[in-house]
Amino acid sequence: MLNFARCNGSQTVGRRYFSLLRDKNYIGGEWVAASSGKTFQVTNPVNDKVIGIAQDSTPEDAEKAIKVASGSFKMWADLPAKEKGIKLKSLLKLVNTHSDDLAKLITAECGKPLAEAKAEVMYSAGYLEWYAEEAKRIYGEVLAPPNNTRELVVLKEPIGVVGFITPWNFPLAMLVRKAAAALAAGCVCVARPAEDTPFSALALAALVEKAGFPAGTFNVVTSSRSQAGPIGQALCASPQVAGISFTGSTAVGKILYQQCANTVKRLGLELGGNASYIIFPTADLSRAVQGVMGSKFRNAGQACVATNRVLVHESVFDKFSSMLATAVKTQLVSGDGFDPAVNQGPLINEQQFQKVDGIVKDAVSKGARVVSGGGIHPTLKGRFYQPTVLSNITEDMKIYNEEIFGPICPLYKFYSEDEAVTIANSTRRGLANYFYSNDYAQVWRVAKRLESGMVGVNEGLISAAEAPFGGVKESGFGREGSRHGVDDYVHTKYVCFGGLQN
Ligand code: ADP
Repeated sequence: MLNFARCNGSQTVGRRYFSLLRDKNYIGGEWVAASSGKTFQVTNPVNDKVIGIAQDSTPEDAEKAIKVASGSFKMWADLPAKEKGIKLKSLLKLVNTHSDDLAKLITAECGKPLAEAKAEVMYSAGYLEWYAEEAKRIYGEVLAPPNNTRELVVLKEPIGVVGFITPWNFPLAMLVRKAAAALAAGCVCVARPAEDTPFSALALAALVEKAGFPAGTFNVVTSSRSQAGPIGQALCASPQVAGISFTGSTAVGKILYQQCANTVKRLGLELGGNASYIIFPTADLSRAVQGVMGSKFRNAGQACVATNRVLVHESVFDKFSSMLATAVKTQLVSGDGFDPAVNQGPLINEQQFQKVDGIVKDAVSKGARVVSGGGIHPTLKGRFYQPTVLSNITEDMKIYNEEIFGPICPLYKFYSEDEAVTIANSTRRGLANYFYSNDYAQVWRVAKRLESGMVGVNEGLISAAEAPFGGVKESGFGREGSRHGVDDYVHTKYVCFGGLQN
């Protein structure tokens, strides 16, 4: 296990463990300090030891980054698509070469087990590969004209400078899947990563630099939480920023939506979810248990597509809950993510920890039954919450309505397909839903009826670079990944060529 005891600054840690650790902003191809002269400490959520320092930037720094990005836009946009693809492929190669270093950084700053961090790096690489290829396939159209004097052509043009605001739970992947699509489309970027996890973004910038991207095409400005709002506002208010892409909470997404109104910006919002995971009577229960283990407990439940409520048909409820309780007790090991035996890390910060504890206490006080776990980890110090299974859940409990973002699995008993679908749809969120069934007519029917941007049928982990990721209702709009992922970064321009025949 790593010993952070001697680590009191980025240099020590950097030399020993993290070759890609950077402690400055990356603006215009240079590593620069924040204009305020201030920095903030980034800690490992396992033990609160300092991993390194990052720049506590202000809107002034964001504006500098916007300016240099803006200056590089035309040159990058005009580069042939093939050349953009080649640059993205160079970055892909470097991400693959440095996958171990990147994974260690992710584990250190966000606490997830190293195997999951490696999976996140590979997942990120998938987006780079996809968009390196997709750069050449951003097609326009030639339309059938209404008469022979005209030709009608549709062009796809990059929108310009885009701002990214990203979360801590997938600190590399959430940035890469935005940046890869935007760069492929010909846009240039200013990213402001989460304060808990700025180093993955800076490590990506270090690889962008190595890959030889032109200065100004990709910029990273870090800050503490206190500057998140002002920097977000600067990005939203700037007329030089053409679009914002945000992944994070619905509450912050709504603020950004309002802030973007004044400049009528393009916006992509990937917000919170409230995924149901439905087990119908014909489900293969063993597969359903394994599916929910991945969907619920990956990253200790800290994912927007994580299962939030498990709805189990009454005919299989007892059997499923006992199988799940056994799996939770025997398969999950909490601890430091650098320990290869561990598959459950801590919760990211105190606020998140208190929220999860509050949700469980609220449910238990209103009659929920603890099937497994049920509280703070009895032996581990820090913000470890026991993987928990609860039943007897009722609608008045917070857990019924709120996104949990923790390793808590509430089980509900349902009696009919209609009831299950109604419960799953009875939320303002609509990111992902999952269900298990081997009744093929039911599979198609339910897949169509569920109100979410994504549906997993007999699968608990569905995200892939090849597929469009995104939500409906208050889970946001815009799609990341797949050919649809470039749509947020291009304008559709119609050109009418007239006077062609007399
Ligand atoms: P979480 O609860 O998962 O931290 P948030 O939506 O609060 O989700 O945070 C996601 C990202 O948005 C983080 O990088 C955070 O610093 C940033 N953020 C928080 N508040 C604001 C804001 N008012 N404007 C812009 N960004 C913000």
